Amino acid sequence: METKQFKAESKRLLDLMINSIYTHREIFLRELISNASDAIDKIYYKALTDDSITFNKEDYYIKITADKDSRILKISDTGIGMTKEELDENLGVIAKSGSLKFKTENEIKDGYDIIGQFGVGFYSAFMVAETVTVISKAFGSNEAYKWESQGVEGYTIEPCQKDTYGTDIILKIKQNTEEESYDEYLEEYRLRSIIKKYSDFIRYPIKMDVTKSRLKEGSDKEYEQYKEEQIINSMVPIWKKNKNELKTEDYENFYQEKHYGFDKPLKYTHISVDGAVSYNAILFIPETMPFDYYTKEYEKGLELYSNGVLIMNKCPELLPDYFAFVKGLVDSEDLSLNISREILQHDRQLKLIAKNIKSKIKSELENMLKNERDKYEKFFKTFGRQLKFGVYNDFGANKDMLQDLLMFYSSKEKKMVTLDEYITRMTESQKYIYYAAGESNERIEKMPQTELLLEKGYEILYFTEDIDEFAIKMIMKYKDKEFRSVSSNDLGLEADENAEAVKAEETENKGLFDSMKELLSGKVKEVRASKRLKNHPVCLSNQGELSIEMEKILNSMPNSEGVKADKVLEINVHHDVFKSLKEAYEKDKDKLKLYTEILYNQALLIEGLPIADPVEFTNNICKIMK
Ligand code: ADP
Ligand code: MG
Repeated sequence: METKQFKAESKRLLDLMINSIYTHREIFLRELISNASDAIDKIYYKALTDDSITFNKEDYYIKITADKDSRILKISDTGIGMTKEELDENLGVIAKSGSLKFKTENEIKDGYDIIGQFGVGFYSAFMVAETVTVISKAFGSNEAYKWESQGVEGYTIEPCQKDTYGTDIILKIKQNTEEESYDEYLEEYRLRSIIKKYSDFIRYPIKMDVTKSRLKEGSDKEYEQYKEEQIINSMVPIWKKNKNELKTEDYENFYQEKHYGFDKPLKYTHISVDGAVSYNAILFIPETMPFDYYTKEYEKGLELYSNGVLIMNKCPELLPDYFAFVKGLVDSEDLSLNISREILQHDRQLKLIAKNIKSKIKSELENMLKNERDKYEKFFKTFGRQLKFGVYNDFGANKDMLQDLLMFYSSKEKKMVTLDEYITRMTESQKYIYYAAGESNERIEKMPQTELLLEKGYEILYFTEDIDEFAIKMIMKYKDKEFRSVSSNDLGLEADENAEAVKAEETENKGLFDSMKELLSGKVKEVRASKRLKNHPVCLSNQGELSIEMEKILNSMPNSEGVKADKVLEINVHHDVFKSLKEAYEKDKDKLKLYTEILYNQALLIEGLPIADPVEFTNNICKIMK
């Protein structure tokens, strides 16, 4: 007999599992049945694709046996089984799927969360059992092995006897404690209801084992019939059922059974298509973002079935990157079982299905936006960033597909609005869709550059995510309206009543502005009188395509090449400070230099840009205070 330790990660998780105050203990049965079903899937698939293996459909089933006296609950399957090595690998380590390294100790305080994030199926047995014994014989092998564990301490593996291939999971159910009763997991009616609730759609019969003695006076025939009726589940996969017969709860249970997420899906849709290609699909939009969503580890894709038989766990070809958050499955009779990965990529049927699914997802999102606004905003908060990346990626190839789904915070509505909603509120004379980019709504609200537009009653969209401005540059125009940053040189204001006046100021103070420009040479392209400032003395704006916000973002990336936006220092000529500037220009060149530097640094601070020498800046301020 070999005694082994669990891998460190598994140990930690097990400990949590056993000790967490977990309110959904009953799901252990769902997990073990789902594993049994997976194991039968594997052998069923083998048989279907390999002529040398014959099988009887009746030979594939899951059997549940409960015995109150010995407190034993047994889940047996006729699946593919496990070799000694597989027992060791599969049951000795947790979290092949995700691994705990993403989370720190503190984040793993709640067992509930873990089960959802990692799908620690098998280990959930320890929530109800003091000892878990697995007896397994792998298909095609002559040896059977027994794996046994009482939890955190470790496990043993030794050879044992088992006639047929498959796996028995034997749980020694815990004794009741003062707070908890475990007896229910040995009660037939309770087990039935748990199975009905979570495992109804399992494709193989789940049978309750009943001994003949319990039927007291029945004949053998009656007993056989009784046994037949003991199949608890309906066995029709949910996606092949009639939508009208299904409740939201059914979809939600299915979502969790499949480990698509442990949250409730925000939205589900059930599709049946008959046409050039026929398929059934159930798609889910999760409510919360998977913890690894924006990492390399995240794999997009839908489960792919060929007429009810699983052929791929995550088929990435079924989802475009920008809908990578969608979970679910596709089942089609038009796909061959023997299809290989390479062929699948070029499969015409699959391409048709993928295209179809893509537009279904889009229209589903559009409907949500139209009819369930709150839900959509919730969705957008979680996955909107993905959509914006979708607009930006591939040089904007998918912008037409996605632009109607975008939302931004509006200065006017004080909530998220779509581009279309913005357009409908534009006045006749408004030339551009205005946006302001910054760190947060609060900061943008205080940007001097927004003063004039806001005063004139124009609506401004707030761009607070890195990707926003880049995505918009890809869209360029929405319904013939161009986007314009509030920091841009030309705001396109027709009724620019003070344009003349500004021009006059410009000419009058040319000498001053030129001197300032020279003092700031290499830092700004131009110094000029501002059209947009009302109360603030200075601000920066930019010439050309690269905005100051974009400069900040690009320079924060690894290996950035130090790009620079062409900056313009705008001076408010109606501000008192301007008088001092003028006076300094006329009388005291050192003072002009001092003022210019202070104003320039102030403008940088307002933009959230670093100033080159903060010590000098504060010294300068002190100087003028004296
Ligand atoms: P998951 O099902 O997500 O892979 P589990 O913790 O539920 O994770 O199971 C771990 C692994 O143990 C499975 O992937 C499978 O390889 C193996 N396993 C568990 N139960 C069985 C079973 N009844 N028959 C065969 N293999 C099993
Ligand atoms: Mg599992």
